[in-house]
Amino acid sequence: MRITLEDILRGRVRLVVRRRRRRSLPETAEVAELRALAKAVLPERLSELASEYGFSYNQVRIKHNVSNWGSCSSKGNINLNLNLMRLPEDLRDYVMLHELCHLKYLNHGPEFHALLESVCPDHRMLQRRLKDYKLI
Ligand SMILES: [Zn+2]
Repeated sequence: MRITLEDILRGRVRLVVRRRRRRSLPETAEVAELRALAKAVLPERLSELASEYGFSYNQVRIKHNVSNWGSCSSKGNINLNLNLMRLPEDLRDYVMLHELCHLKYLNHGPEFHALLESVCPDHRMLQRRLKDYKLI
């Protein structure tokens, strides 16, 4: 079917404009504070964990989203959610180790889990505890 401008103006067809999903959340004072803390703490800790366990990554960025605590790209870049600052340190470390393991395996297959197990033997318990926290 061919849609004319007249069809649209007369309301015979309705235009649906899809907005892009917001890529980041509003920067409230609380978020700004968490971001500053996160920038002061997380990159340094990630670097410590990486050298302790022999990982090397490209860049680390601090993000604010509600979809993940952290992520790792095929280019070796790691994103960490500023909400990690609301977690106890062992859970924070767990998320960082999880992302570091994705530098070697970009999936959650058996090899990934074996590697995670070797650097973080408590990962199953930590993953369960992490579910008690919500991303905001
Ligand atoms: Zn993962």
